[in-house]
Amino acid sequence: MTSAHTSTQPLAVDIAIVGGAMAGATLALGLAKLSATLSRPLRIALIEAHVANHNHPGFDARSIAVAHGSVFELTRLGIWPKLQHLGTAIENIHVSDRGHFGMTELNAKPLGLDALGQVVELAQVGKVLFEQLAQSAVRVFCPAKVTQILAQTSGHLLTLDNGTQLHCQLLVAADGANSVVRQHLGQPTEKIDFDQTAIVANITTDQAHQHWAYERFTQTGPLALLPMSSASNSFKSNSFKSKSFASKSSATPTQSRFSVVWALPPAQAHELVNGDKTEFLAALQQAFGHRAGRFVDVGQRVSYPLTLSYMPRPVYHRCIFVGNAAQTLHPIAGQGFNLGLRDVVGLLNVLEQAFSAHQLTNSSTQVDVGSSAIVHQYLVDRQADRDSTLRNIEFLVRGFSNQYWPLVAGRNVGLRLLSWLPPLKRPVAQTAMGWR
Ligand SMILES: Cc1cc2nc3c(=O)[nH]c(=O)nc-3n(C[C@H](O)[C@H](O)[C@H](O)COP(=O)(O)OP(=O)(O)OC[C@H]3O[C@@H](n4cnc5c(N)ncnc54)[C@H](O)[C@@H]3O)c2cc1C
Repeated sequence: MTSAHTSTQPLAVDIAIVGGAMAGATLALGLAKLSATLSRPLRIALIEAHVANHNHPGFDARSIAVAHGSVFELTRLGIWPKLQHLGTAIENIHVSDRGHFGMTELNAKPLGLDALGQVVELAQVGKVLFEQLAQSAVRVFCPAKVTQILAQTSGHLLTLDNGTQLHCQLLVAADGANSVVRQHLGQPTEKIDFDQTAIVANITTDQAHQHWAYERFTQTGPLALLPMSSASNSFKSNSFKSKSFASKSSATPTQSRFSVVWALPPAQAHELVNGDKTEFLAALQQAFGHRAGRFVDVGQRVSYPLTLSYMPRPVYHRCIFVGNAAQTLHPIAGQGFNLGLRDVVGLLNVLEQAFSAHQLTNSSTQVDVGSSAIVHQYLVDRQADRDSTLRNIEFLVRGFSNQYWPLVAGRNVGLRLLSWLPPLKRPVAQTAMGWR
């Protein structure tokens, strides 16, 4: 899919996006849509290090919950209609505190919705996004890595590992938690290590999921079950095969598949990831209980160290950071991509406003998409949402992984209050669904 550029001169583009996983690919498609409305189309480049196969770090065999608010935004960008056949609706969420009385439910119906969100498998999503990109005006360089960045007054000069050079007015870093752009530009990041590791796996249960998702707070850390389609479509119709997380057999009509994310102390996670499958299922069943039925099978188990890292200022000279490059969250509340998508939409809004304002002036000059005014506006617009999401996630992780009795009592009363006073649920559900 690599775009050819043979000239010895750097290829001049308006916007170069480094990293083409969830954040970068959705931004590129959103920019292509915006560009189609302009009198002079934008020149957009996307540089992604990996082709979409089972080794892709951003489109791996993970499943994620895309909140209702994110589905709405993806629909507005014209992306969701191509993805919706891959989604499994979450109609209800059951939240409980293991070994204590606190529990509550969030339900779509009372909110007048069909679903609180949709579960998608990232490997499938990656394939569809790259098909859409191939049909767009975006120049995609893949597989290609950015290896050098030279900051200049008018923009950035990027050098790729295949020797290609690009000059962009605005550089967007969507290159994930270990952002190479951030390292090249020497930008600081703050990190909180929760001393937890997440085990991620797909399991089969002997009961239909009925579109319920579960979040259970255990002594060792949170445990989430996301409902999945009954048979994995992953890799069914494409050229690459995945041993991935799919449990060996597809679920029968009376069974279900769930994607599990289970946070544990690193040593315990290591043992359970590498240990016997039956022992894993027994330990999981004991931690979760039988609310979703009996756990009968598990696919490949993979572990992810859990940290929360964020850039205090996700901008630099002619450069904007989005998604995991700007902040990487603990998956406790399934908000990583949802927040990353709000970065993407935030940037699209700032650019759209700049183009509309420019049109009113009837000026013959072009909009400078990397101007300090645009970069600063993005920083201001994203601050409140980023700050409150980061604060909430830290509070949740610390508050619900703790056995200090006043905290246990407080959170259980909180969960009970949510059950008894349904009006309190609306703001909680709205936050969970990515409404701001
Ligand atoms: C266990 C787990 C469960 C999760 N569950 C949820 C959930 O339920 N809901 C939710 O919203 N979020 C969830 N998340 C978070 C979500 O998966 C991430 O926020 C999202 O996928 C990050 O996307 P990204 O594009 O920002 O970054 P990444 O996926 O890290 O992508 C970065 C991309 O940049 C490319 N790249 C890196 N360096 C270079 C370079 N030098 N040149 C070119 N390309 C480069 C990489 O190849 C990669 O494709 C979960 C995360 C985990 C770990």
